[in-house]
Amino acid sequence: MENEIRNTVIMGSGCSGLTAAIYTARANLKPLVLEGHEPGGQLSMTTLVENFPGFPEGIQGPELIDNMRKQAARFGAEYRTAHVVTADLSKRPFTLNLGKEEIKTRTLIIASGASARWLGLPSEQALIGHGVSSCATCDGFFFSGKEIVVIGGGDSAMEEALFLTRFATKVTLIHRREQFRASKIMLDRARQHDRIEFLTDTVVDEVFDVTKKEVTGLKLRNLKTGKVWDFPTSAMFLGIGHIPNAAMFKGVLEADDDGYLKTRDYVHTGVPGVYACGDVADRRYRQAITASGTGCMAAIEVERFLEDEGH
Ligand code: NAP
Repeated sequence: MENEIRNTVIMGSGCSGLTAAIYTARANLKPLVLEGHEPGGQLSMTTLVENFPGFPEGIQGPELIDNMRKQAARFGAEYRTAHVVTADLSKRPFTLNLGKEEIKTRTLIIASGASARWLGLPSEQALIGHGVSSCATCDGFFFSGKEIVVIGGGDSAMEEALFLTRFATKVTLIHRREQFRASKIMLDRARQHDRIEFLTDTVVDEVFDVTKKEVTGLKLRNLKTGKVWDFPTSAMFLGIGHIPNAAMFKGVLEADDDGYLKTRDYVHTGVPGVYACGDVADRRYRQAITASGTGCMAAIEVERFLEDEGH
């Protein structure tokens, strides 16, 4: 148990949390960054980032994150490999339970992001890392020269399918409906690609072969005709959206039906001194630059809050 009361704790080390860390560290608040389950967040799992302003040639996602991390450390940010299990936000200082220890803090910045959604099939879960993946940029390379499958009908699925054509001889995009959420430009690009095929109105019932510890195929079902068949493939990539990492605040902070934290006046949660930024509170934009922007806002709110409280 730490006796010290922190000025601010930042949950999450993606671009939102790290931007908040840069700002609060430069305000001399000595922020503690809890790195969470996926250090560096989603950017650390991408390759080239071409739309973050200031990098005319683009920059690799992990490098961008590493730069932000160093930038905050230079001004005194501290990092810890830990995640919040439960939080008592009913009185100040707030108490964060990290499993093996508790931390007390005057303010909290929630920048815990969102994690990939899975289908939830037992066979899928058993084969994660053995041909089942939610990160094309991380794992696509392993399937060079193979035929692979992407699940989903949004921009993420299109982006994954297009990216995976760099490695795969054929990508089959499987979607449960005939209509797509993907933007027209992304959908058109995928449709026009000669190595991407589409299977619509189709769901995965099982992933083979758990006993071999590798993906050899899928049991598919057409939702309109009821037809069930085996479909050989070497890998299954999920591109079916994300789930905000806010379960520990259920019933404590206001969230929408999908669990995204609700904020008012930009980054304020319902609890004074607690702010939410980045993808955990943003289902609409989900960009590195918008996550960084709201991280900056949360940091400035923390500065003002502590100043008003006389710290
Ligand atoms: P999304 O738009 O919510 O799409 C998720 C897709 O997965 C939907 O087609 C959905 O099917 C399907 N799905 C969800 N759960 C499923 C399940 N259990 N089984 C089968 N299919 C399932 O998510 P996203 O593609 O991650 O995009 C999120 C946001 O990020 C969007 O605003 C998007 O524009 C943006 N984004 C942009 C880019 C880009 O511009 N380069 C890239 C990636 C993401 P239904 O349609 O039937 O619900």
